This record gives sequence, C-alpha cells and structure tokens, in this order.
Amino acid sequence: MPENKVKKYFSLIEVWAWCDICEDMVSLRVDKNEITDGLKMGIYTKEYMHSNPSPDLEDTDDQSGQEHSIFVYIDDVFNVTGVKSFFGESPTTEEIGAKVIQEGGEVRIPVVVKDISPMAVQLGMLNKEQFIVLKICDGMNTIEQVAEIAQISVEKIEKMMEQLRKKGLVQVIKRT
Ligand SMILES: [Zn+2]
Repeated sequence: MPENKVKKYFSLIEVWAWCDICEDMVSLRVDKNEITDGLKMGIYTKEYMHSNPSPDLEDTDDQSGQEHSIFVYIDDVFNVTGVKSFFGESPTTEEIGAKVIQEGGEVRIPVVVKDISPMAVQLGMLNKEQFIVLKICDGMNTIEQVAEIAQISVEKIEKMMEQLRKKGLVQVIKRT
C-alpha cells in the first residue's frame, strides 16, 4: 500500500490518500481554513464521494465503479493521520477491523455514549487530549486506529478508555 501524501500550499493542501476500494490513490484538495475550523470541534475529517473512473471490468468483485466514500483524517499541521473507504453512510460494524478478525484477533471499538461539547474542556471536566480522542471514538475506529489518528500510543489510549469508561462517557465493544 503506497503511503498517503500531502502537499501544503499557502491556503490549501493537496492530499493523495489510498482508497482500499479503488485500490488506487485518490487526490483531493482541502482548504486550510476548513481544517482549522473543523479542528475547533476536536478532529477534522474530509469526506469525499467518488467512483473509480477505470474499474476492472473483468473482475466481478471489483465494485469500485460504484459511488463510495473516502474519509481522510487531517491533523492541525495538515498531515493525514487516517484514511478509510466504504460504501454507504458509514462502514458497517462487520467492516471495522475485519482483517484483524480474519486473522483470529480481537477487535475493540470504543464508542462515545454521551454527546460532549467543547465546553467540557473549558469546565475542566476533560482535558483537550481526552476531548479529541472522544471525537475519534465515532464507532468507526478500533482502539489501534484511534491511537493512530490521535498520534498517541495504544497503551495510553487503553488507559484513557478505562478512565472515560468509568466516567460513563465511552463504551468499548469487543468483537472476535
Ligand atoms: Zn475509491
């Protein structure tokens, strides 16, 4: 899988992200102000609907010619920290961590159970890091993916999940 790439310009960035469905790089441009504004709410994700202009017509498993979404997580220094591709509104529970389960592993998916406003940080109920991590716990990411997107170690995320679970803010769903 080729690495995601970003070119940073004065007011926008150009991203090349790997789409698992197209099995190709997808390029998109994102306004820097849009990212900065989005990050005020915790995380920024660029959602981009597209279809593969040249799908493999001989491969019946290749559905990339149908419209699908790519989600690109971008951080405050305009780097890509996560990418996911899926059909429909969001990835299905079966799709999240499917590879890990195939290999016999266990998938842990943290899900926020309460809506949290940025006020919680101002009021000192949460620190900034916890707030950002909670935003990534949208039910579409495994613990490992949350760690990658937030650029925090898995061990630290696990500890944080335990604290947040005790506060009644997050639930961790396990699938094998
Ligand atoms: Zn695609």
